[in-house]
Amino acid sequence: MQVKYAEKFRGKGLRKCRICGTTRGLSRKYGLHMCRRCFREVAPQLGFKKYG
Ligand SMILES: [Zn+2]
Repeated sequence: MQVKYAEKFRGKGLRKCRICGTTRGLSRKYGLHMCRRCFREVAPQLGFKKYG
């Protein structure tokens, strides 16, 4: 079981929102490791004027 757990996190499962921790709706293209939801929240602070 431990091995399975490790493999999961070494693979796709590693990606998750660093803010809310969700693994859904993630957008890798921003390189920010956060979901679209959180991205919209922090976008203005990061210099993104408008999104969506
Ligand atoms: Zn999030």
